Amino acid sequence: MNYLEQKIAPRREERLGSCIEFGGTVDEIHKQFCGCCLKNKRRAFSQGTICQLLPATAILTSLQDCVVIVHGAIGCGGAVHSQGASVRVGQFNAGDKNPKGALWLSTNLTESDVVSGGEEKLKHAIIEADKRYRPSAIIVLSTCIPGIIGDDIDGVADALKDQVSATLLPIHCEGFKTKIMATAYDAIFHSFLRNMIDGKDETEFRIYDNDISTTAEKLRRSRLVNLLNVSSMTGADQKELTRLLNKLGLEVNMLPCDAHPDAFRLAPFAALSIGVCPTHDDYFMTYLEQKFGVPFVGGQMPIGIENTSIWLRQIAAKLGLTEAAERIIKSETDELNRALEPLLPPLRGKTAMLSAGEIRTLATAVLLQELGMEIVAVRPYHYDKFGVAEIEKLEKINPKIRINVATAQPFEAVNLIYRIKPDVYIGHNSDNVWAAKCGVSILPIYGTNSIYNGYAGVYDVARRLKRHLKNPSFNEHLAKHVRQPYKENWYSENPFKYILGGE
Ligand code: SF4
Repeated sequence: MNYLEQKIAPRREERLGSCIEFGGTVDEIHKQFCGCCLKNKRRAFSQGTICQLLPATAILTSLQDCVVIVHGAIGCGGAVHSQGASVRVGQFNAGDKNPKGALWLSTNLTESDVVSGGEEKLKHAIIEADKRYRPSAIIVLSTCIPGIIGDDIDGVADALKDQVSATLLPIHCEGFKTKIMATAYDAIFHSFLRNMIDGKDETEFRIYDNDISTTAEKLRRSRLVNLLNVSSMTGADQKELTRLLNKLGLEVNMLPCDAHPDAFRLAPFAALSIGVCPTHDDYFMTYLEQKFGVPFVGGQMPIGIENTSIWLRQIAAKLGLTEAAERIIKSETDELNRALEPLLPPLRGKTAMLSAGEIRTLATAVLLQELGMEIVAVRPYHYDKFGVAEIEKLEKINPKIRINVATAQPFEAVNLIYRIKPDVYIGHNSDNVWAAKCGVSILPIYGTNSIYNGYAGVYDVARRLKRHLKNPSFNEHLAKHVRQPYKENWYSENPFKYILGGE
C-alpha cells in the first residue's frame, strides 16, 4: 500500500469495503462477511448521520502548538464546541494549568466565495494564523464547499510554505465524500505522513539533538514505542496504558491526540507501534512498517480483562518480553478480581445494549459479559475486517445477539430499545439521550473524566454501572414526560425496514 503519492487518502468504502447498513444477528453478519456477501446497502430513510469532520476536529484541535483552519462555511466548525471540554482537559493533563481550549479559525466561506473561489481567504487565514499564534503547525481542514468548487488547498500550502514558519498540513475532509466517518482518520494520517514524515531524513527532524551512534540513544530507541491513542480516550485511559507499558520497561511516544507535532517526527524511530483501535490506526502503522521497518501490533482494543491481557501479550511477543508480561498480567488480574468481587452481584444477569464506533462497541460488550451481564444488542457505527475478532468473541457468547450497523440512525435504535427493553444502554451521549427518553438507564461509553481502558478501566466501568443500575428512576420518570418524534406504529415495524435489501 502506498497511497501517499496521491494528494487525497482513499475512502474507506473503497479501501476496506466498510459497511454502515446492517440489521440482524452476530452470527449472520459474521457469516456474510466471511462469505464476502456483506455489501453496503442504502437506507430508504436516514436520520442524523455523522460527517467525518466531527472525528477530524476531535483529534486535530487536541494537538499542542497547532492552529486548525476549517476552510468552509462557518457552520462546519460547529462540532468543535462540543469537544471543548475534552480539549481543555487534555491540555490540563499535558501540564497547562490555564488551558485555553481549541485554537481554531474558519475561513467563513460565503455564497460569493462559492462563485469566486476561497483560495484568497485561505491564504490570508494561513498568514494571519502564523503571524498571530506562531504555531508549530497550521492544519487546513477542507470541507464540502472547497471540495465542490475545486479550491486547491495543497497548492495554497505549497505556495505559502516559505512565507510562514509553521509546517502546513492540508487535510481533505469533505463530508460529502464518504459515509464512513472513520475515513477522517486516514485523511489526517495521510497529511501528516505526506507533509511531515515522508521523504525526510533524520537530519530534518528537529527533535533529534541526540547522537544516534551513542549506546544510550540506541538503548532508548530500542525501548521506545508509539502508542496510537484515540480521541475517545481520556487522560486517565492514557495514564493507565502508559502505566502498563512502563511496567514492561517501555518508553511511550503518544500520538496523535493531545500530542505535539514532534511526536509524529519521532514515530519512525520507535521500536514498535502499538494500536489501541485497529479502525483508527492501521493506515499510519502500516505505512511506518512498510517505509521505516517499524513493526506494529494493532488488532486489539485494551478494554476488558481478557482483551487487555491479549493486548499486553501481543506487545510482549514482538519485543521478547513474554515472561515479564505474564508476571504483570497475573498480578494485575489477581488484584482486579479481588476488587471486583463486591461489585458483581448486582450486575449479574442485567441486560445491556451498546452503541459507538466499531471496535469500541464490540470490545465494551465483551467487558460487560466478563462482569456477568447479558449482551442483547450492539450497534457499531460501521463494520469491516477489523471487527471480525470481536464479533467472533460475541458469537461464542451468544450467536443471536442482535446487531444493527448504523452511524446514528436513532429511529432504528429507539425501535430496538422498545422491543428489547435493556436494563442499560451504553453509548456516546448523542445516542444515550434517545435511550434515556425511552426510560432506560444509561452509561456514557466515553466521558472525559472517567476511565475505560486497561485493568483499571474494568473496575471503574463496573463501579459506575453498579451505581447507575441501583436507581433507574430518573430516566423512568423522564420517559413519562417526554415524547419521542415517532408515530406509535413505528414500534411494531421491522426496525430494519428502511435498509434496502434488508430483512
Ligand atoms: S457535511 Fe460538509 S458542509 Fe456539512 S459539516 Fe460536514 S464538511 Fe461541513
